[in-house]
Amino acid sequence: MRDLAGRLDLCSINTATLGYQTRIGETVDAVARAGFGAICPWRREMEGEDVAAVARRIRDAGLAVSGYCRSTYLPSADRATLDAAVADNRRAVDQAAALGAACFVMVVGSLPKGSRDLPAAWADVEEGTARLLEHAQDAGVRLALEPLHPMYAGDRSCLNTLEQALDLCARIEPEPAGAPWLGTAVDVYHVWWDPKLDAQVDCAGRTGRLFAFHVCDWLVPTRDLLLDRGMMGDGVIDLKRIRGMVEAAGYGGPVEVEVFSAEDWWRRPIPEILAACAERLEAVC
Ligand code: ZN
Repeated sequence: MRDLAGRLDLCSINTATLGYQTRIGETVDAVARAGFGAICPWRREMEGEDVAAVARRIRDAGLAVSGYCRSTYLPSADRATLDAAVADNRRAVDQAAALGAACFVMVVGSLPKGSRDLPAAWADVEEGTARLLEHAQDAGVRLALEPLHPMYAGDRSCLNTLEQALDLCARIEPEPAGAPWLGTAVDVYHVWWDPKLDAQVDCAGRTGRLFAFHVCDWLVPTRDLLLDRGMMGDGVIDLKRIRGMVEAAGYGGPVEVEVFSAEDWWRRPIPEILAACAERLEAVC
């Protein structure tokens, strides 16, 4: 396993961690100044921005782009809505390409309003991802399916384990000619509890489908399902064990910090958040 001490160049900051306090240009500079090697921006930060100029600023700052967040939800009440979701995701993939992102992160969505039909949601995810994949290949962008913790199965994602995500990859892209274009983002927050994690991470690595690795921590108790993630070291996840698994499976990309923390970290100044990320990455990840 890589030693992260003094190696922030191996680490990335997902901009959600900083609570969107500044425009993307300033955020890029702050992340670079703090010594990190990569950044993972969100689509909302590109609104009203010239994406090519942002890409230049990221490059000039010496940062890599570990990913681009995230997809528009796919499960839809009707065909027109699914078509629109696919089209919207194609535009986002184009932005990911312009930014030079290592992957486009896909949070796939779940039941449309009023629906109880989970198999229909799964089917929309499969169809929508397959349609998007062709465009992603043309654009040169890999798609990283991020399974979310089952507590989000009703709204944010009907893809809830790494096994389920890898099965989907194998169905959509069964025998890639070269390296796969469809893979997974492993986020400790979503998968730490999974008794099959070890085997599935191994499978993801063996099949070349480990595209991203996200860290934060699981707080006990968790007060909010979405916005109460912990800084690494403040919760119950054995971060070193999981990073060990991921790297033993062949992952050599950045370790990306992604902390949604509306009531705590997002209220702090950006330099303080970045300093905490750096310290915890070196100490407990
Ligand atoms: Zn994540």
